[in-house]
Amino acid sequence: KNINIAIDGPAGAGKSTVAKLVAEKLSYIYIDTGAMYRALTLKGLRKETDLENGLELSTLLAQTKIDLRVIEGNQKVFLDGEDVTSEIRSSEVTNNVSFVARQKEVRQEMVKRQKQLAKEGGVVMDGRDIGTHVLPDASLKVFLSASVDKRAERRYKELIENSVEADLETIKSEIALRDKRDTEREVSPLIKAEDAIEINTTSLTIGDVVQQIMSLVKE
Ligand code: C5P
Repeated sequence: KNINIAIDGPAGAGKSTVAKLVAEKLSYIYIDTGAMYRALTLKGLRKETDLENGLELSTLLAQTKIDLRVIEGNQKVFLDGEDVTSEIRSSEVTNNVSFVARQKEVRQEMVKRQKQLAKEGGVVMDGRDIGTHVLPDASLKVFLSASVDKRAERRYKELIENSVEADLETIKSEIALRDKRDTEREVSPLIKAEDAIEINTTSLTIGDVVQQIMSLVKE
């Protein structure tokens, strides 16, 4: 009985770290949907596509292969066969991804691909609209939240660990801006699904959050 688990929330709430660990514990597949939007953004930037033009972007997406793979225990992102795992975390991509993600033509295709990836069940998927649009029937929906300070601190550490140069104050303002764009956009804005369980992770450890989710899985 392979169920699907949806994990949503703003940037830096701990989604990817927690989702990966939960997936490991359950021997499920982890799917980082943010990485898919980031990969398309990277390609758009390289090709100098107008990132506000949904039609152009969706045409580009139709010719784009995005693969999420685990290689020697590490989550890797491939864009048309090229490993772009670190490049999609650059500040240029981070600061532009919300423009790409608010185009409805882009979201339609991304949601279609994401549903396809989850159709067999056994998936832990994280993003912004998983509980509301991608997996509305998921057996478990979790919404992770945390203070903006805490989230900036976490994103900072994550970047440093991935050898990406970073500045805490810059990250904080970037996170606040990205959240604003993600929650205020017209198409599938970031919002807690009605039936999602909210966990405020500000003063929780990763282990705490994983444990809480695992106890929800067993219910
Ligand atoms: O999760 P991550 O921070 O990598 O996501 C990058 C961006 O992709 C988000 O800020 C949001 O604009 C977009 N996104 C989205 N829907 C998702 C996942 C990510 O709109 N399901």
